[in-house]
Amino acid sequence: MIKLKRDKDINALEKASKIVGETLEMSREIIEPGISTWELDKKIEEFIRSKGAIPSFKGYQGFPGSACLSVNEVLIHGIPSKEIIIQEGDIVTVDVGAYLGGFHGDAARTYLVGEVSEEKKKLVEITYQALELAIETLKNATRLGEMGYEIQQYVESRGYSVIRDFGGHGIGREMHEDPFIPNFGEKNSGPKIRIGMTLAIEPMISMGEYATMILEDGWTVVNTDYSLNAHFEDDIAITKDGVKILSRV
Ligand code: MG
Repeated sequence: MIKLKRDKDINALEKASKIVGETLEMSREIIEPGISTWELDKKIEEFIRSKGAIPSFKGYQGFPGSACLSVNEVLIHGIPSKEIIIQEGDIVTVDVGAYLGGFHGDAARTYLVGEVSEEKKKLVEITYQALELAIETLKNATRLGEMGYEIQQYVESRGYSVIRDFGGHGIGREMHEDPFIPNFGEKNSGPKIRIGMTLAIEPMISMGEYATMILEDGWTVVNTDYSLNAHFEDDIAITKDGVKILSRV
């Protein structure tokens, strides 16, 4: 069931989402060659708590970190580790949630570390543009499927693939609410877009196969061909004044 929010709920969600946005900005500033994903996770947790919020991911279904930190071929749900040291040329996806005032914010960015290969740069740029396109599409769409359709057309026409096993979701008092929002599919499909919807939009794009698998740790998701991936996510609200992006600062 899709839970539509009143203005006061959207305002509360925005406060949580903004903390996530600030945490992502902070992460961008401290990611550098030599830092482990464990250290990065500690800094993220401290930052979120310093804002009076709680890291949503910590303990979520047993997840050990405060952030999902996914390096290079890892698509999502990378577990922070002292053994994973970020290197020059890596791409690192930081996916963070913050819980404040009864609401969860949830957003992600893929960052370039130092000098990065052209193919990685292009992948990250296309993925970012896919998120921008998704948000633009929402402004005039009547059903959520139009967004997935536009993302898929854009991405596949450039030779990349859209991850199908994971996608966006409703967000609010629960981190994952209905509906599930695929980043592919038919234009005339999906729930009708309605005022009060709050959604986490998150295209995940691969240079290779779209099929995924989970590694032995029970969390880390990679493509079946271990190809490179990127991922951007923002929280938005459908309000009477239009689409509002909640998680950007
Ligand atoms: Mg999400």
